[in-house]
Amino acid sequence: MEIFKEFTFEAAHLLPNVPEGHKCGRLHGHSYHVRLYLSGEVGEDTGWVMDFGELKDYFKPLYDRLDHRYLNEIAGLENPTSENIARWIWHELKPSMPLLSQVEIRETCTSGCIYRGD
Ligand SMILES: [Zn+2]
Repeated sequence: MEIFKEFTFEAAHLLPNVPEGHKCGRLHGHSYHVRLYLSGEVGEDTGWVMDFGELKDYFKPLYDRLDHRYLNEIAGLENPTSENIARWIWHELKPSMPLLSQVEIRETCTSGCIYRGD
């Protein structure tokens, strides 16, 4: 069974490695949508893979580091593309959340990425 929970955070960034004049090289913000997917067995007694409230608690420290921040200042996010944010979240969460199976990031309604580990 696979479950997911979606979070949103607001943050500013710029992409330092784009060609001169590229709009993403200018400071701007996004309302990011993050979806965390967990794969696992459904507990016989609980009837769930994981308590959604527990999932929220796991993400909270990361949320606090990301929300209303300038992402480029965060160690590991010097080039904060959606792809790198997804990888960063994965590596931050995976050690304490072994059921994590996918991290999905959307930076606009129509653009995003999915990361399932290396
Ligand atoms: Zn952007």
